[in-house]
Amino acid sequence: MALQEAVIDKPATESAVALRDAVRRIACSDLNAQVVEIDKGLYPADTMRAFGKVGAWGTHLAPDGKADLREAIATMSIVSQTCTATGFMAWCQDTLGWYVLNTDNVELRERLLPRIASGAQLGGTGLSNPMKTFYAIEQLRLKAQRVKGGYTVRGVLPWVSNLGPDHLFGAICEVEADGQRVMFLVDCAGPGVTLKPCEPFLAMDGTGTYAVQFRDAFIPDSMVLSHDAMSYVKKVRAGFLLLQFGMAFGLIRDCIAMMREVKPALGHVNCYLPEQPEHFEEMLEKVEAEVMELAKTPYNTDIAYWRRIIELRLAGGDACVAAANAAMLHCGARGYVAAHRAQRRLREAWFVAIVTPATKQLRKMLADTAH
Ligand SMILES: Cc1cc2nc3c(=O)[nH]c(=O)nc-3n(C[C@H](O)[C@H](O)[C@H](O)COP(=O)(O)OP(=O)(O)OC[C@H]3O[C@@H](n4cnc5c(N)ncnc54)[C@H](O)[C@@H]3O)c2cc1C
Repeated sequence: MALQEAVIDKPATESAVALRDAVRRIACSDLNAQVVEIDKGLYPADTMRAFGKVGAWGTHLAPDGKADLREAIATMSIVSQTCTATGFMAWCQDTLGWYVLNTDNVELRERLLPRIASGAQLGGTGLSNPMKTFYAIEQLRLKAQRVKGGYTVRGVLPWVSNLGPDHLFGAICEVEADGQRVMFLVDCAGPGVTLKPCEPFLAMDGTGTYAVQFRDAFIPDSMVLSHDAMSYVKKVRAGFLLLQFGMAFGLIRDCIAMMREVKPALGHVNCYLPEQPEHFEEMLEKVEAEVMELAKTPYNTDIAYWRRIIELRLAGGDACVAAANAAMLHCGARGYVAAHRAQRRLREAWFVAIVTPATKQLRKMLADTAH
């Protein structure tokens, strides 16, 4: 795990150094011990809570427009360097916190934000379908009716992760009468809400992923994040994408480590492969530096800022797949042993490229903003 030490972006404060050390300790001990079981389907709730207890889920939740996402990305990358499935759950948890930070519903924010930051409350985000809707890829799947004190919602979200019976997640519905879009938090134990197990997944079976069914589920106004989801999403969308880089950076760093690990034995022939660890190190350093700069100002409304995030996010997904593919080729027969992490990394890398916004959606988003 030598490269666990080598996070390129420097922590800004002493407390950030201490936090990264604490996260690294849990990643290299508890998480590392569970990683094979997580790959087979274990949902690591206790480890997710342990990361929360040391402060991993709260660094990006500064109020009054002062949020800075750098430490959230850095700690998520440390988690992902051991297990990107858990890195993805870290993103789900961080994104839930990001939603609650940015609501005008003060009572909801004050009640839940400290619990999400500490990991006492776990949960995620069900925004894949709305994110596709905004770019004319799908129709909204959740339909609602305004009723006294809230909304009744029906429909199905096919995949929502980092869930369990006492978890929460963010979602968006459309009011049938007037087309208004409302963003709200869902209590998985709420009336009319059912978690349905999914078919087994590649790499992501331990991520607590369920299909969520809404059967006239009552969502009280107290759980509404915004009655105007469109402007709310504009506020949180840069953070949504920027936080995903934590998964990519950790995964790429471990792929570099694998290429270096086999160098003493296989370097004399691996040097003929077109992609070398130095290539990925150079690329990682450049992209990480730029992302960390962008992550200081997640409320920037400049269209050039948003477009640059989309370009980098696309490059990040491509780089994950390339790095995991290169690690596999460098490891050779060693990597083809089922217990070796090289093949797990390859499966995890594809997920970074298909999770919303997927590679194809990112390309469409760039094409749509080109003119
Ligand atoms: C393991 C896993 C975890 C995920 N976690 C989350 C999450 O936490 N939150 C979230 O919002 N999204 C989640 N997703 C969805 C993810 O972000 C992407 O939206 C999804 O991978 C598809 O994206 P795509 O753009 O490639 O769409 P495509 O796969 O091209 O198209 C998606 C559409 O295809 C249809 N479809 C295809 N296969 C199925 C199927 N098996 N069941 C139902 N419909 C299907 C549906 O209409 C769906 O909307 C998860 C997906 C997976 C595989």
